[in-house]
Amino acid sequence: MLALACLGWAMLLSHAASSAEPSGVDSPHSADISKRNLTPKDFPRWQQLERNVYAYEGLHSPDKQGVIVNTVSLIVVTGDGVVVIDGQGDVPQTRLMIENIKKLTDEPIKYVVIASDHIDHVGGNAAFKEAYPNVVFIGSPVSQRRLAKDPNPPTMLVSEQRSLRLGAAQIEILNLGRAHTGGDLVAWMPQIGVLFLGEIYLRDVFPAMRSAYPTEWLATIRKAVYLNPTWYIPGHGFIDDPAIMRRELDEARQALVYVIGEAKRLKEAGYACESAANCPAAEHANWGPYANFALRSSQAPLAIARVYLELDGKLPET
Ligand SMILES: [Zn+2]
Repeated sequence: MLALACLGWAMLLSHAASSAEPSGVDSPHSADISKRNLTPKDFPRWQQLERNVYAYEGLHSPDKQGVIVNTVSLIVVTGDGVVVIDGQGDVPQTRLMIENIKKLTDEPIKYVVIASDHIDHVGGNAAFKEAYPNVVFIGSPVSQRRLAKDPNPPTMLVSEQRSLRLGAAQIEILNLGRAHTGGDLVAWMPQIGVLFLGEIYLRDVFPAMRSAYPTEWLATIRKAVYLNPTWYIPGHGFIDDPAIMRRELDEARQALVYVIGEAKRLKEAGYACESAANCPAAEHANWGPYANFALRSSQAPLAIARVYLELDGKLPET
């Protein structure tokens, strides 16, 4: 694994070689790694987006069908320390990411931003503390509450906006509204046009709504688009060239609109969905172009149940 990782970093230093993915229109519409003929041995992977900014991909296996998707972290080498936005899902993967960052720079990791507080993005955060005892975790107040029992809750909080100026980098940590977790943050680098959206942007994944705010999520995506970035970076899903990432964000938004509309139709037709585990409505759904999206079977009942909560005015405050 480490030998492969070394090779990966060598490739990464040469920008042209680092974009291993085909970036044409025929990129498969799936975050499932097998649909790109990749296996776990091909990970971790990473690519340089701009000078000193890298998108790093570890792995996550979120459903019983054994589908494997990537989990994306953003790495920013500022000249005065490294900032990581979203970690990986477990300590071994996060340790491996740290080892790889060390091959790139001597700078310590100073900040870790929790854009998504879900386990597949924070589960390895103890590895940051182990390697860098002074590392500061940044997150929303909502994420702080959620992670209150975690050994590494965020201690620097962002309710609306916080500007992180470190070395040559300007990183705006923004709350653009509730979306996938309710505590969602983004990292925006206006000097270079990189916007890390974390799980607000799930590329080619069936809309994952277990703890989502379905309609607000749409508004949050609209705010992201107002920033007019060059790069939209997702929390899960592959990273192709900027034009594809922009188009696919709109496709992810359309998938949300579709799923919200379909759940509404099911509710109006009288189909019940008490919870994901007790959701007869799912049997009557027509998912149209999204029927074959990665994680559809596990995520569809969760999405219906969540939209029903919203329609009933019963979404939790946070
Ligand atoms: Zn996730």
